[in-house]
Amino acid sequence: MNIHSARIDDLILFVDNPEDVSWDVEADVLIIGGGGCGLVAALAASEKGAHVFLVEKEKAAGGNTSLSQAMVPAAGTSFQKDAGIDDSTELMAEDILKKNKKGSDSELTRHVAAESSRLVEWLDTNMGIRLELVTDFIYPGHSRLRIHANKTRKGAHLVNDLLQATGRYDHIDVAYNAPAKRIVAERKTGAVLGAEVEIGGVGRNLARARKTILALNGFGANRKMLARYIPEMKDAYYFGHEGNTGEGILWGEALGAELENMGAYQAHGSVAHPHGTLLTFATISFGGYHVNLQGKRFVNEYHGYSEHALDVLAQEQGVAISVFDERCYQAVLGFEDFQQCIRMGAIKKFDHIRDLAKVFRVSEEEMEKTHEAFQKAALGESADPLGRKDFNGPLKPPLYGVKVTGALFHTQGGLKINKDAQVLRKDGSVIANLYAGGGTAVGFSGKAGPAGYLSANGLLAALVLGKVAGEKAAEAALAQG
Ligand SMILES: Cc1cc2nc3c(=O)[nH]c(=O)nc-3n(C[C@H](O)[C@H](O)[C@H](O)COP(=O)(O)OP(=O)(O)OC[C@H]3O[C@@H](n4cnc5c(N)ncnc54)[C@H](O)[C@@H]3O)c2cc1C
Repeated sequence: MNIHSARIDDLILFVDNPEDVSWDVEADVLIIGGGGCGLVAALAASEKGAHVFLVEKEKAAGGNTSLSQAMVPAAGTSFQKDAGIDDSTELMAEDILKKNKKGSDSELTRHVAAESSRLVEWLDTNMGIRLELVTDFIYPGHSRLRIHANKTRKGAHLVNDLLQATGRYDHIDVAYNAPAKRIVAERKTGAVLGAEVEIGGVGRNLARARKTILALNGFGANRKMLARYIPEMKDAYYFGHEGNTGEGILWGEALGAELENMGAYQAHGSVAHPHGTLLTFATISFGGYHVNLQGKRFVNEYHGYSEHALDVLAQEQGVAISVFDERCYQAVLGFEDFQQCIRMGAIKKFDHIRDLAKVFRVSEEEMEKTHEAFQKAALGESADPLGRKDFNGPLKPPLYGVKVTGALFHTQGGLKINKDAQVLRKDGSVIANLYAGGGTAVGFSGKAGPAGYLSANGLLAALVLGKVAGEKAAEAALAQG
C-alpha cells in the first residue's frame, strides 16, 4: 500500500486558513478512538479542565481493551508494597528491554515504566476503578509480581468502569458510530487542526480542536497492511477488535511521521478452538502443557504465549491440545474468559490420559509416553527434553483437555512519539498538535515478530500513554488560552 501522492487526499484534508473553514464542532482536545487509551486520555484531559470531544467508530466504546483480560503492569505501586513485593521501575524497564532484545526506545521504555505506578494509583484513587495485584501466578519475563487487574480479569468491566468515570465530568462529549475519516491539517505548516468525522453515517462534520490524540489502535483488522508489514499473519485468525483498521498510522505517515517496528505484534497460542474464546495462559503457568495431534509436545510452551502462537500454528491443522489438571482448573476459575470456555463446552474432563487421547483423536500410546515424560520432568526426575524449567509439580487426575489454536491479537508497530506522546517526524521534529498512544503509537515489543511482547505490554502502552497524552494535550491546549 503506497499512501504517497495518490491517496493523500483520502487521508488528509489540507486547508489554507483555519478561520475560513465552517467548523461543526470545537473542543480543546479531540480524541479519536474510544478504547482504553482514548477513555483514559479523555479522563486525564478533562481532569485538567479541558473540553474533550471523543469520537468512536463503533456503536459502543471498548475496542480491544474490552476483549482483554485487563492485566496492567506497574512497578512500585502501593498494591505491591502491601503485598511485600520489592519492585522498581528500573527493573520493570529492564524486563521489557530484555524481552524485546533492546528493540524499543530505551528512554521511552523507562519513562513508561516510571509512569506505570502513577497510572494505577490514579485509576484507583482518582477514578474509583478497583484494581488488585495478581499474586497467584507470575507471567514469564516479569521478574516481580507486577500485574494489576480487576477482580474478574475482564477488559469489558474495565471499559465500563472507565465509562462510568467519564460520566463524572460534564466536559467530555462522546459520539458513537462516528468514524474519523480524515485528519484536517494546515497546508503550509502541516499543523493538525482536527478531523473530518462521519457522525451516525450522515455527512461529514468538521471537528476543530487545539490538540488531537490518535487512540485508534493498530492495524490488526487490516489485511492489506498486515500483508505489507506482517506477512506471516496476513491470513491468520485475528482475535482482536474489527475496528482496528490502521488509519491512525496511515494519517500519521501521510503527515510525515516516522513509523517504527511495524513488524512487531502480539499473538496468543491458547485460543479455544473452534469456540473462539481465550483459554488464558494461566493453565500453562499453573503447570499444564500442550501436545500436537500426534500426541507430542513440540516446544517449551512456557517461553511466552505470544511467540507460542506461531509454534501452535505450525502444527497439523494449526492446533494443539492443552492438558492440565484440577489444580490448574481451580486456579483459573476466576477468569471470566475461562468461565466462558466452560459454558461453551470447550473444556473436557478425564480420569485418565488415554481417555483424553481418545476424545481428541490422538494416538493413545504416544499421548501416554508424552504424559509420563512430562510428569518425570515436573517431578525433577529428569530434565525436560524441550528445556522447560518452570513446572508446578506433576499433574494429578482428573485431567482436562482443550483444543486450542494460535491467533493474532494486536499489532505493536506504529507512530514514533516522544515522552509527551507527541508524534514525531523522521527528522525528530514534532507534528504540531498531534499526540498518539496505545496501538497507534509504536509499542515496546521489539522490532518484529511476536517474541518481543512481554505480557501486558498492550495495556501498558494504551493506558499509560493515554494518560500522558491526555494530560499533556490538555495542558498545551489550555495554555493557548
Ligand atoms: C483477547 C485479548 C486479550 C488481551 N489481554 C490483554 C491484557 O490482559 N493485558 C494487556 O496489556 N493487553 C492485552 N491485550 C492487548 C490490549 O487489549 C491492547 O493492546 C489495548 O487494548 C489497546 O488499546 P487501545 O486503546 O490502543 O485500542 P482499542 O482498545 O482497540 O481502542 C481503539 C478504538 O478506536 C476505534 N477506532 C478505530 N478507528 C477509528 C476511527 N477511524 N474513528 C473513530 N474510532 C476509531 C476502535 O473502534 C476502538 O474502539 C489483549 C488483546 C486481546 C485481543
